[in-house]
Amino acid sequence: MNISHLNYAVILFIPGCIALIAILLIWRRRKAPGAIALMVFIVGVTIWTWTYSLHWLFPDWPARFFWLDATYLGVVIVPSAMVVFAFQVNNLDRWITRKTLALLCVEPVLTLVILWTEPYHGWFFAGKRTPFSTDIYEGGFGFWFNIVYTYGIILIGLYVIVRGFVHSRGIYRQQHGLILAGASIPIVVSLARFLGFEPFPGLDLTPMVFIFQGLFYTVGVFRFSIFDLIPVAKEALLETMPEGLLVVDERWRLVEINNSALKLLKQDREAVIGTSISNALSDWPKLERLLKRADQNAKYYQVECCNEHFMGVNITPLFSKEGRITGRLVTWQDITRQLQTEARLEEANLQLRTQLREIKSLQATLKQQVIRDPLTGLLNRRFLEETLDKEVARAKRKAYPVTVLIIDIDEFKRVNDTYGHAAGDVVLENLGELLKQQTRKDDLAVRLGGEEFLILMNEVGLERGMKRADELRGLIEKMENEFEGIPISITVSIGAAEYPSSSQEIRDVMRKADQALYRAKYKGRNQVAR
Ligand code: GH3
Ligand code: MG
Ligand code: MG
Repeated sequence: MNISHLNYAVILFIPGCIALIAILLIWRRRKAPGAIALMVFIVGVTIWTWTYSLHWLFPDWPARFFWLDATYLGVVIVPSAMVVFAFQVNNLDRWITRKTLALLCVEPVLTLVILWTEPYHGWFFAGKRTPFSTDIYEGGFGFWFNIVYTYGIILIGLYVIVRGFVHSRGIYRQQHGLILAGASIPIVVSLARFLGFEPFPGLDLTPMVFIFQGLFYTVGVFRFSIFDLIPVAKEALLETMPEGLLVVDERWRLVEINNSALKLLKQDREAVIGTSISNALSDWPKLERLLKRADQNAKYYQVECCNEHFMGVNITPLFSKEGRITGRLVTWQDITRQLQTEARLEEANLQLRTQLREIKSLQATLKQQVIRDPLTGLLNRRFLEETLDKEVARAKRKAYPVTVLIIDIDEFKRVNDTYGHAAGDVVLENLGELLKQQTRKDDLAVRLGGEEFLILMNEVGLERGMKRADELRGLIEKMENEFEGIPISITVSIGAAEYPSSSQEIRDVMRKADQALYRAKYKGRNQVAR
């Protein structure tokens, strides 16, 4: 074997290995824009280089052109993959659809078919091919078709890459710069060759050149990937955020402080960084005390700071991987206005609650006024009308009797006439008080109007009701009324009737009680009748 052929084989083999390592690296970040296309690109170049290397290693292979034909498998992949990569890395994904990908496969497949069936028609090389030179400047239409297509597509890719570089800013500029540099390598090498620079006579360096292009792309994509933006963004966040932030190490030395904190503490970064925290917090000793008191739990405090401002301070311990506290992160924000608003709200709330209490008590009074007679404090007729049906319904449901008493003061007109209306009122008031005291909670004591009253006794039959009525009559007779030093005594007549024995209709029962009252009056007053 020719020794320079072996050298060429080795020279071509090694970059292929490097390319494979690049593929492994890209695989780990295959989600990045253009990563898959770049992998396909590098796979294509690797096939190209290695088959070309084998061509130098086995020059006597039975079919002389076998490995050279095999290189085309890589050759046709490279331009298409490069153009897809260029589009994706420049955010032109919308062009890379399934349809365009399928279209990009048409030419490579056609070329391979024409090439590999060459002996049958000679469309590709037209018989002008030599084993150790790829310098074919003439060929069949298949050859020219491939040349024109390949250069055309590479030009499109180049245009997209140049355009991406021109429009890029910041760290993306470097990324696009690297990609542009990668894309320029083949042009530079071609130019050098055109000008007569040929270090390895007969060796086509194109596949190696493409490998370097692929490596540039790899670095371009991953060295300055989108992930590199995150530290930059974090830095910007620290410096622009309105909250104060500082970090101390385990020995209370200040290791980080942001602009907002420096402004509040009126300090210079250079003067305080790396020094004891007491320096930075010389104007805010309260915070230093809190900080040094902190344990392994995150804490929140509301701390007064300079000129009556209040800060909401978070102190968070920072842990090493082994779980040891290595420092503390302190952040704060001005909560003065928030506290003021809260205080105002609290006050407004208090006022509202007081007003609500007043309203409730007024409502209760109003309710009493609506259902009670103001002179005697007994329930009024309106209340009776409203609750009567309910009382009877319950009595009916639970099957108990109800006794109704109607009480009328005897010859009350005379009391008024003798002692005056005001004296009559005092008597009515006293009678009201007595009836209230003498009735149970479940009973109703009602002033029907004038000097006429009604007592409704639940679960009391007529016999017991009559007895109770007579007791009341006796108590009223003995009641001591006094008006301007003059004692006034009264008697009452009482009519009684029972639900349901007197009538199933409660209003009938009341009428019956009224009739009984008349009988009591007729019989001579101061007595109970049924
Ligand atoms: P009888 O034994 O027949 O019931 O005689 P009486 O005088 O009680 O009967 P009458 O119905 O004729 O008189 C009721 C009197 O009650 C008339 C009215 O002046 C008096 N009266 C009604 N309401 C009030 C009141 O609110 N205050 C006072 N002071 N008197 C009242
Ligand atoms: Mg009367
Ligand atoms: Mg009367």
